[in-house]
This record gives sequence, C-alpha cells and structure tokens, in this order.
Amino acid sequence: MSLDKVLAKIDADLDQSVNRLLDLLRIPSISTDPAYKSDCARAADWLVEDLKTLGFDASSRPTPGHPMVVAHGGTGERHLLFYGHYDVQPVDPLDLWDRDPFDPEVQDTAKGRVIRGRGSADDKGQLMTFIEACRAWKAVHGSLPGKLTIFLEGEEESGSPSLIPFMQDNAAELKADIALICDTGMFEDTTPAIVTMLRGLLGEEITVYGPDKDLHSGMYGGAAINPIRVLTKILGNLHDETGRVTVPHFYDGVQELPDAIRAQWQALAFDHAKFLGDVGLSVPAGEQDRTPLEMLWSRPTAEINGIWGGYTGQGFKTVLPAEAHAKISFRLVAGQDPDVLRGHFRAWVQEQLPADCRVEFHGHGNGPAGVMSVEAPAFDAARAALGEEWGKPAAFVGCGGSIPIAGYFKTYLDMDAMLIGFGRDDDQIHSPNEKYDLECFQKGIRSWARVLAKLV
Ligand SMILES: [Zn+2]
Repeated sequence: MSLDKVLAKIDADLDQSVNRLLDLLRIPSISTDPAYKSDCARAADWLVEDLKTLGFDASSRPTPGHPMVVAHGGTGERHLLFYGHYDVQPVDPLDLWDRDPFDPEVQDTAKGRVIRGRGSADDKGQLMTFIEACRAWKAVHGSLPGKLTIFLEGEEESGSPSLIPFMQDNAAELKADIALICDTGMFEDTTPAIVTMLRGLLGEEITVYGPDKDLHSGMYGGAAINPIRVLTKILGNLHDETGRVTVPHFYDGVQELPDAIRAQWQALAFDHAKFLGDVGLSVPAGEQDRTPLEMLWSRPTAEINGIWGGYTGQGFKTVLPAEAHAKISFRLVAGQDPDVLRGHFRAWVQEQLPADCRVEFHGHGNGPAGVMSVEAPAFDAARAALGEEWGKPAAFVGCGGSIPIAGYFKTYLDMDAMLIGFGRDDDQIHSPNEKYDLECFQKGIRSWARVLAKLV
C-alpha cells in the first residue's frame, strides 16, 4: 500500500528531516525585535527555497512587517491550506538557557531524544512536520498530496499585525476548502487532539461614582453612599451559589455539548485533582452541574480580574472614596454575541445602582468564540488518521484560551480550520530551553501523511 511506502520513507529519511529543521532553527527569526528583521526575511527565503524543491510555486511576499510565505502546488478535488509561523519568541533571559538558543542540537534526555532550540516546538518544528510529510509523499508518488496552499507568517509572536490585511487583499488566492493549522499540542503525552472549540473573550472596565469628592468616613460615614460598597455588592451578585452567571440572557444561545463530544471528553484521562492541585487548589469552582473539562472548554465564564478604589497605600486612611473601579472579563462560547452581551451586562449593572451613584463603562477587546463544524467529514477522517498513528483515539478538544488565527480563517476566508499539533506540555515554548520531542517530530510527520492520505 502506498501509504506504507510513504511512512517507511519518512522513517528512513528522518535524519535528513532533522538536519533541515536544525538549519531552519539556526536562523534567529525573532519577530518582535527590529534587530532581527533581516533574519526573519532569511527564514522566509529558506522556506521558499525548500518548498520550491518540492515543486511548489513558492514566494516570499512583502508586508509592512515581516514577509508571508505563500506556496501553491499539486492538484486534486479538495483544496487544503496549511498554516504555520516561522517567527519565534525572544530568548531572554539568555543565562537560563543551557546552550545557545540558535545553535540547536538533538539531545538524549531521561524522557527520550529531544530537538533543543528556540522555535523547535513553536512553531518551526511543527510546521516542518507538514512539509516533511509532503516531501516523503512526493518521493513515493512523484506528486504532492493533493491541491495544497502553504501559508506561513512571520509575525505570529508579535500580534500578527499584517495578517488580516494580507488575508483580505489575497482572499481569492488563499481561500481553500479547509485550513490545517499546526501550532497546538497533544491532549497529553500520547493522546492526539484536534482543537475544535476556542472560547471568545469580552472585556469590560467599570467605574462607579458617588460623592463628588473623597470624604472623611468619620464625618460622612453612614449618611453618604460608598461607591466601593456599591461596586462590590454588584460584583458579588455576578454568580449565584451554584456558580452560574446571573446576568440576564447570559446563557441565551449557548448550546449543550453534543453527546458524541461529551462521550469523548469523558473518555479522556483528565486528572482535575492534579490540574487544580498544581496551583494549590482542590475543588472545581465553576458551575456545579458541569465537569471540569466543560467548565474549561465549553462553558462561558465571568471573572473579576481587578478591583480598586479608596486608599490602598501603606498605613491607614479613613477615606470614603468618590469612585470605585473593576475590570471584568467574560470567556464566551458559540452562540454568544460579544456586543449583545456587553449591552446585557451594562444594563444589569445600571439596574442595580442606588440613588446618587452613576457608572461609566469602558469596553475592552472582544472576539467571538470559534467552533468548528466537526460534522464535516474531514474531521472524522483526520481523527481516524491520528488514532491509527498514535494507537489511541484522537479527541476533539476545546481550548480555554483564544487562538485568533482559526477565527480569522472563518471570518475573512469563510473556511473551517482543523488545529492539529504535536507539542507536549513540557516543551517550554516561549521559555528558556525550548524543545520538541524527536518522537513528536517523527510521528507528527507520519500523522500528516496519514491525514493527507484520507483527505486527498
Ligand atoms: Zn506558535
């Protein structure tokens, strides 16, 4: 069977694949620091040249920031776009590295062989898993695995300022049937995962005003309204005793988890006692009728991130303050519109204000949740392919944080994204001594070959 030949080719050529990755890792493409601008361009050029050897029509495309790499190749019914990023995080503090971050090497460790160096996991090692899979496929079949567009950016670690304009300007060229993104991790060491739910975010800052100046609590306390008292009472009402958010309409449109996903999550060995124990806690504090994974991945939340007012300096001052402040954020799930929710939250605060108080709101960033249509056959195909490689079923998982790129593909190119990655929790991305397990690199390449075999 030809897939077996591709897998055998991947294994046979692993040393060369590692050497190519080491070459790419030697280029210090730190996107946030202008001193490395030419290195970013060099990394883009390196990738363009490598993709050309595979028969891609590849180019480095200028932007106001660092270049994008865009490559097209192959033919087929389904058009797949692959996304990764060639820029890396800064390396300081340098003295915490055991070696030069840009002099990568393969090391033997107690947990197996690792590729050590900045970018090994985030994201050069991961993006090369896809390119190496294409290389082995081409060697066996003489052609690329289907109609492919490879899209690599160089500003992911610095907020992707050029990404949306570039997507808008080149929408027709970039639009494909589905996007494959390799910049995430495994569920745990040996359980592969496809991220299909990303929570959104809504930020609000509120200021409650009372008396027109700070007052002396001995002279006015009792008769004058205290804005901190008003604010804490309102915020104290944000959750009921079961952990539910009380803002009216907050849960409007929030869907229950499909049974199939619920069953997958129940089968995952998520140790919530350890998860909480690692941060000195023991009891899940969210909605009490939900599992901890639901609390993290599929349920919306409200958190008070900061609260201040009155006198907070050294010693003591019996002030009755004129104003009180808080920052509040909401993690959102599918079905929740951040703008609508902002309105409901503000109305709910306003309603609770007593006489003589007024409130001002300041909105911070917002973004809707991203939920992939896992009914699309590509998702089950990829899940099966990953299961065959790792010997364990892959899980459709959520991600409590936000990965904006997946939402951008949906918003600007109207395509779903499959986030498949092979990182492990101890890869130390963004930290000193970043590594990528050799096993993840090898099995990552093999995984893509299997996924592509099912998708093309
Ligand atoms: Zn990354």
